[in-house]
Amino acid sequence: MFVIGNWKMNGNRELAQALTEALREHADELNQVQVGVCPPAVLLASLNEAAAETELMIGGQDVNEHQSGAHTGEHSTELLSNFGAEFTLIGHSERRQFYGDSMARVAAKVAATLANSQLTVVLCVGESEAERQAEQTFAVITEQLETALQGQTGDCLERLIIAYEPVWAIGTGLTASPEQAQQVHEFIRSWLVQKFGAEAANVALLYGGSVKPENAEALFAQQDIDGGLIGGASLQVDAFIAIAKAA
Ligand code: PEP
Repeated sequence: MFVIGNWKMNGNRELAQALTEALREHADELNQVQVGVCPPAVLLASLNEAAAETELMIGGQDVNEHQSGAHTGEHSTELLSNFGAEFTLIGHSERRQFYGDSMARVAAKVAATLANSQLTVVLCVGESEAERQAEQTFAVITEQLETALQGQTGDCLERLIIAYEPVWAIGTGLTASPEQAQQVHEFIRSWLVQKFGAEAANVALLYGGSVKPENAEALFAQQDIDGGLIGGASLQVDAFIAIAKAA
């Protein structure tokens, strides 16, 4: 099970300290779950330092597809790795909606990360409310997976996690019901197995979208939900720890 926090454009050094202290305090209860956090890139070093003697995995919120060069404001796989990241989100819906991450760009980022680094890719996919209402959920997810993973082989599986994040549930307080989430996760798992073979059944599938301590247990109890990607609730240490314990 994985529980990964996405701080988005929030957090500070104090939160890094408070979270890592809590992780040390609750280490015994959390030894069955892999906890990760994606802070803003400027906090990677602080969080990495604060995380000493914890099992916390640190990740990027995004990565650039180029290895270096004139890309003001961007971060390469090498920069993320240098500051302690072990994984990176790619294709978060906020990047897709507001920062020009087209399907082609998401595919380029996935390809570059797998080819040029040891980082694990946490590929985010999910449908909008209109797409769900138009019964396009599976078609949208299929297109997102197909384009992002085009040209990849089974070699990518060890460094691949998929996060299903319905756009209508992100930061809205609306959560997919455990059954709705399970249905899509099952679909993603069988898509992966069809594309890459039986081994792909082991790829971790995370649910994201208004996960809170109150709904985490029911979501994580679903057969194909292997943890969560947590936005808002990851900014409250107690809530985040409670969600990790639910996993
Ligand atoms: C997210 O942004 O990845 C997310 C799941 O946010 P929230 O938990 O706030 O809905």
